Amino acid sequence: MRASGNPDNHAQSAPVYLVGAGPGDPELLTRKAERLIRSCDALVYDYLVATEILDWAPEHAERICVGKRAGFHSLDQETIQDVLVELSRSGKTTVRLKGGDPFVFGRGGEEVARLREENIPYEVVPAITAGIAAAARAEIPLTHRSYNSSVAFITGHQDPLKEETGVDWANYAKLGTTLCLYMAMGRLSKIRDKLIAGGLPADTPCSVVQWATTPREKILYSTLQFLAEDAEKEEMSSPAVVIVGRTATKP
Ligand code: SAH
Repeated sequence: MRASGNPDNHAQSAPVYLVGAGPGDPELLTRKAERLIRSCDALVYDYLVATEILDWAPEHAERICVGKRAGFHSLDQETIQDVLVELSRSGKTTVRLKGGDPFVFGRGGEEVARLREENIPYEVVPAITAGIAAAARAEIPLTHRSYNSSVAFITGHQDPLKEETGVDWANYAKLGTTLCLYMAMGRLSKIRDKLIAGGLPADTPCSVVQWATTPREKILYSTLQFLAEDAEKEEMSSPAVVIVGRTATKP
């Protein structure tokens, strides 16, 4: 538990836990995450979190859904942070439950910065991120002694409000790194073009894993050149992770 600043400043502030809810399957949460959810007074969660997990919270716990999906935010980031501060100040032990890991494309950094600023005690509880879960389900080793020695988690959609992402795709095309793309479903043909233009072979294996570890899971195997068309044909949609690399082949 991080208790920054003068302890008197947060004498009345209850702790806020930034907890990763993992990719979907409730059995994939950490024991710590489950313990904190079961004992919280307030649960602030994103829409991707399974209801079974939300049901662990005690009956008296306040439940607040703060939305978040591509192109749609039910509460803006600043307001979410205000909610966390208010709950803590009202003495409620709060779990801020985020899909996957709080620090992988989760804006956990911004929430922690605000809590630190407000001298609120907090702790970050890590979890299985979607990229790791997707690879496990599709049986794709993200690293492999013979083929690649690194893996990159990349957003295809850095800011939903921005047209272009700031990702240097040509650079990634040259690294021989396994690419794990989050929030990329609306941009597959653009990303494909940029990776191929950057020198990544068109026949590089790819996989799309939708709703990994949930009952709605669906897995597609393709190659870079056919990725966008195959994903459309198979009606693959968000939330999905796209894995690009030598090992992304059908087992
Ligand atoms: N913090 C989360 C990522 C949030 S960004 C994490 O660590 O996993 C949201 C994106 O995560 C989605 O657009 C999708 O790319 C990915 N995602 C989340 N859950 C997923 C799941 N069950 N299956 C596949 N992709 C998922």
